Amino acid sequence: MIPPMAQYSIGVDLGGTNLRAAAIDAQGRILRKSSGSTNLSAGPDAVVADIVAAIRALREELGTEQLVGVGIGSPGFIIMDKGLITGSPNLPGFDNYPIRDEIERLLRAPVILENDANAAALGEKWMGAGREVDDLVLLTLGTGIGGGVIIGGRVLHGFVGMAGELGHMTVVPTGNPCGCGNTGCLEKHASATAVSSMAKLMGLGDDLSSEQVYQLAVGG
Ligand SMILES: [Zn+2]
Repeated sequence: MIPPMAQYSIGVDLGGTNLRAAAIDAQGRILRKSSGSTNLSAGPDAVVADIVAAIRALREELGTEQLVGVGIGSPGFIIMDKGLITGSPNLPGFDNYPIRDEIERLLRAPVILENDANAAALGEKWMGAGREVDDLVLLTLGTGIGGGVIIGGRVLHGFVGMAGELGHMTVVPTGNPCGCGNTGCLEKHASATAVSSMAKLMGLGDDLSSEQVYQLAVGG
């Protein structure tokens, strides 16, 4: 007798540049991975079609019946109960687009939409650096600054789902304007993008990476 295939879930990392998907089993082992790019200029319908195609490809290999559910991690503010992304400068065109319901409809599988840093924090709690603790804070540093807060083993969403948005803490009250509508957010002063653009403003160079700026700073 052929043993029944094991249950698995699929996680999708929807970024402004890359679109990655992975199937994992109940022990957190990665069974299959795929990666492509996020074709933002083609609009949300096309990006959703790519997401669904990536999930279907994994599902065909691993079995439709065994798929427990799909988790989508995306930058921006997530309205959890509605499954919407709002105010994500890295995903223009997705504001209030019914991304979760649309993917659910096309796949006929349960889908959870979560902020990518919250999902990363949950991942660290489950399999990574946070395994031994129930409370942790995670920061993602890149194009922007994402934050995830786990309290008592659960993601802290707060009243409107933005509790973990540490990149949008005000650090310079009269600082740079941010896509979130505020000014002086941490993300606008300490992300890789912010460091590069501040170096440009200071006349250090036009296309310096944040790492090159760091090297300049270290070198005095
Ligand atoms: Zn902000």
